[in-house]
Amino acid sequence: MSDQATSYAFQAEVQQLLDIVINSLYTDREIFVRELVSNASDALEKMRRLQLTEKNVFDDSLPLEINITTDDTANTFTIADYGIGMSREEMVENIGTIAHSGSKQFLKALSESDQKESNLIGQFGVGFYSAFMVADEVEVYSHSWNEEGEHLLWTSDGKTGYSIDEAPGQRRGCKIVLKLKKEHEEFAKEYRIKSILQTYSSFVPFPINLNGERVNKIEALWLKNKKEISDEEYNEFYKFIAHAPDEPAFRMHFAADAPLAINALIFTPKENPERMLSSPIDPGVSLYCKKVLIAEQAKGLLPEWLRFLKGVIDSADLPLNISRESMQDSALIQKINRLITKRFLKSLDGEAKSDPEKYEEFYGKFSRFIKEGLATDFEHRDALAKLLRFESTFTEPGKLTDLQGYIDRAQEEQKQIYYIIGPNREAIEAGPYLEAFKARGLEVIFFFEPIDDYVVNALGKYEEKDLTSVDRDDIKLDDTTTPEGEPLDSDASSKLCSWIKDNLGDRVKDVRVGDRLVDSPAIALTPDDGMNAQVRQMMKAMNQDVGDTKVILELNPRHAVIKKLSEATAGKPELAKLVTAQIFDNALLSAGLLEESKDMVKRVYDIIDQAL
Ligand code: ADP
Repeated sequence: MSDQATSYAFQAEVQQLLDIVINSLYTDREIFVRELVSNASDALEKMRRLQLTEKNVFDDSLPLEINITTDDTANTFTIADYGIGMSREEMVENIGTIAHSGSKQFLKALSESDQKESNLIGQFGVGFYSAFMVADEVEVYSHSWNEEGEHLLWTSDGKTGYSIDEAPGQRRGCKIVLKLKKEHEEFAKEYRIKSILQTYSSFVPFPINLNGERVNKIEALWLKNKKEISDEEYNEFYKFIAHAPDEPAFRMHFAADAPLAINALIFTPKENPERMLSSPIDPGVSLYCKKVLIAEQAKGLLPEWLRFLKGVIDSADLPLNISRESMQDSALIQKINRLITKRFLKSLDGEAKSDPEKYEEFYGKFSRFIKEGLATDFEHRDALAKLLRFESTFTEPGKLTDLQGYIDRAQEEQKQIYYIIGPNREAIEAGPYLEAFKARGLEVIFFFEPIDDYVVNALGKYEEKDLTSVDRDDIKLDDTTTPEGEPLDSDASSKLCSWIKDNLGDRVKDVRVGDRLVDSPAIALTPDDGMNAQVRQMMKAMNQDVGDTKVILELNPRHAVIKKLSEATAGKPELAKLVTAQIFDNALLSAGLLEESKDMVKRVYDIIDQAL
């Protein structure tokens, strides 16, 4: 420092800020790189604009670029840009006071919150002052773009103040030298800085050279016009941001000016990343403001159930110079969230329509996320419902249909959408539940997963038709199709029902005859206040107390077994008791409700014994 150096004290607020920056137990110190690169990029952008109008620019031929050098012998990190630079007055104003919004907001938030400071720094960024997180001395060499400007050196230890001195021989722009603290010498290592630059600054619009080598070679594709981008470029970009070895299944490139200025490039991977994992993955979409990363893989940017997506959302509406601002404007983030989710679901629906086979392949791997969305996200329910696929009594095994298809095929008077949840198609088809629906030409949807119960409950209806489980006791089916064969007369029926009820006692809520069945003698129905068999099983698996099974046993009065049973109650009451117990267990078994099967084998032998 020469004798002419002028010393200045920091403004009190700067002092306060620096205290926090330097002393906080902030772990994410690497963000100083992003902050300084953003400042450099801003200065270059201002220069670019000035060059359009100004004739007399100092060092006019210099390229608009950023040069970073690391020196692990001297333990320094240096960042130089050929941007607009700073005059003496600007140095005093810009990096000696807090005139800019980012740090002001930071201090305001700090005074209003009892959060740990470290947290807040992470949210706000503190711009230039972040250099003092890792350096115990910072030098800023500068010559402003103005030809009449001075060659200057600003120096500070970040404690009490700074000095400004003349320093002949400067190029246009700023060169900032960080004399790193011993404990942060990692930032003098090229590999470390390279990886930080790749994380935060890959898409900065000006070339960044690290020790002479260009590091940001990837273009910010999302800001380009779709028509100018080839499939190969999209795929390369995807591989870069998603660290993916293969190509994406789908992509959505979306741009809007109103109500929000937003550009998004969102990819759906080919494989479900959670397939082999037991816990949810982190979200894969990052938030940018004008090409600078604000939040990598940002939580809350999109709904949790879209965590499998990879990509970029860039909004110029985020507070200007967002690297020093934050995601604190959560209303804005929520708007972005809603908008992009809506657009994504719409685009997926479009994909499903244009290439159903490809969509089904996707669905086979990712249905879990769609269902999670349906079960948890009320706002996007209708759009998600369109994306559901399933087998039904009307599809071939392995072929899928959707709710709209169901509605299109439904009978004119039909007010319900019928479904059944079971372990697989064979098990469902072997059971008694479909008979009544098949006989009436009513389609029944098959669901095979425990989560489906949550899905249908959350969904409730589709196009005004209630989703109704076929095992409900309260389903009213029309009588136009009278099953074949003579039924037991009503006197015999009611006698048989009360005889069975007496025999089964507490295990059954009610016993009655009905028209539901065609080929089976009996069926267990869930009363309207009862718990679905699948839900019971899940709750039991979670060791929750599910109480007694109380079903309604509906008999098929035309079935030979039931007619014979009716006779046997008088003639062979012992055998009738065994048969009743067996019919009941069979019905529970079909419903997935049989909890104790050990008596069954012995009972079957007893029945055989008596029959022979
Ligand atoms: P912010 O960028 O949010 O305003 P900073 O603390 O990062 O806050 O920077 C303060 C000011 O210093 C900037 O607004 C800018 O005017 C000036 N500045 C910082 N870095 C540079 C640079 N590389 N070139 C020119 N001016 C700069």
